[in-house]
Amino acid sequence: MALSEQERDAVESVPKQLYIAGVWRDAGGARTLAVEDPSTEETLCEVADATIEDAMSALDAACAVQTQWALTPPRDRGEILRRAFEEMIERTEELAILMTLEMGKPLPESRAEIAYAAEYLRWYSEEAVRISGEYAVAANGASRMLTLKQPVGPCILITPWNFPMAMGTRKVGPAIAAGCTMVVKPAKQTPLCMLALTEILEHAGLPGGVCNVITSSSSGSVMAPLIADPRTRKLSFTGSTEVGRKLIAQASEKVLRVSMELGGNAPFIVFDDADLDAAVDGALLAKMRNIGEACTSANRFLVHESVASEFAQRLAQRMGEMTVGRGTTEGVTVGPLIDQAAVDKVAELVGDAVDRGAKILTGGAPVGDNGHFFAPTVLVDVAPDARVLAEEIFGPVAPITTFTTEEEAIARANDTEYGLVAYFFTRDLNRAMRVIEGLHTGMVGVNQGMVSNPGAPFGGVKQSGYGREGGREGIDEYLSLKYAAINL
Ligand code: NAP
Repeated sequence: MALSEQERDAVESVPKQLYIAGVWRDAGGARTLAVEDPSTEETLCEVADATIEDAMSALDAACAVQTQWALTPPRDRGEILRRAFEEMIERTEELAILMTLEMGKPLPESRAEIAYAAEYLRWYSEEAVRISGEYAVAANGASRMLTLKQPVGPCILITPWNFPMAMGTRKVGPAIAAGCTMVVKPAKQTPLCMLALTEILEHAGLPGGVCNVITSSSSGSVMAPLIADPRTRKLSFTGSTEVGRKLIAQASEKVLRVSMELGGNAPFIVFDDADLDAAVDGALLAKMRNIGEACTSANRFLVHESVASEFAQRLAQRMGEMTVGRGTTEGVTVGPLIDQAAVDKVAELVGDAVDRGAKILTGGAPVGDNGHFFAPTVLVDVAPDARVLAEEIFGPVAPITTFTTEEEAIARANDTEYGLVAYFFTRDLNRAMRVIEGLHTGMVGVNQGMVSNPGAPFGGVKQSGYGREGGREGIDEYLSLKYAAINL
């Protein structure tokens, strides 16, 4: 399928090379990797495919300027981020088209992600000048205690494909603000957004060597030597729990500081006193944002038995009315999944649930011959042991189960190794406080189906990871605390 002129311009305008020490250059051996449009399965373009030597050069570049960058005035670091924010907002339409082409999400959602991603640049442009410490008189009055925060040092930042711009700015923004240098590696399926962000940072005046970006088809072998390198001080990863576990093991060799933003299995609880209109709207957002391919996606619906049937019918109707198609097409509300493996996994989970007695209210199968599309699906009568309730679906499938008491709802919500986010709907304030306190998650959505906000600390507990991104807390991931005992 031929790209429109606007789509072709968006792809052509992005650099396709590695960015090392402030220079765009080819990968060793001029190796390249193909970037696919998941809605057509056609190649959009080729980008550089870094070798281990390229990755090492990127780390060399980051280490070479770390001391100098840490000494750059915080205001100057902040102004670079501010200019990057402004350029990103100005280029919203072109960047949104690029995102939709490489990742698949509908254009309005890509525009929303560009705004969300840019906001991390603005937020951390403001936080760069608020890095502070403490001064205290020791208890015996004999000495003084000074605590200060300093940049942790060269960082490795690894991002996933599902929010290709926002997961980049959520790491790069605070790292730059804190005075760290970095090597960034985006997912091989969606390198274009990160390359566009790199160019924006270059335009904004970021000195060469501070942010080095490598794209690669062999992430494991290319990143392992960097994680093992004694000059690396920090690893920040967003991706699956499975890969996160491997990286934590690798990082343990050098006792590397890590932040892990991993997978989720979010419960979405609807109590009997909930405003059902609001709950259905919230469910649609929590389930269908990003085609269900979000770590924060509602993965399991727990609905009070007295309202379950009505809730399921209403959600099925709304999901059944959604328009599946290529994300750049006007009116499309559900784009393709990222690849065929994702479609196969979603189909397998639906098949397993049906084998165990679930009924399909809408959807239930892949759509079309080309592209990786799956129909929005609602399942009811889902057996407690169905895999769809335990595994990350990462697709447009809503499995609905019922409960009787508040205690049961909380216990079932917590019955997972994940702990990223939970959502619930109620009009009872006392219950709301009990449930917020009872849920074992890093984030809770109360009467709303989305929690992401650049001003708030995003992150999980249990096997959803540790560390926080966003908010005042996000910059601390890139700062080390030092205490000085001062004898007067
Ligand atoms: P993934 O397969 O874990 O990959 C994430 C990143 O890690 C990609 O850049 C990938 O590169 C790279 N990678 C894979 N294996 C690696 C290795 N051995 N060494 C170094 N890097 C490696 O995850 P994904 O499929 O891209 O993203 C979906 C997952 O991310 C879901 O589980 C989702 O819940 C999670 N996620 C979490 C958050 C959060 O904030 N908690 C946010 C968004 C997504 P290649 O793809 O190029 O191999």
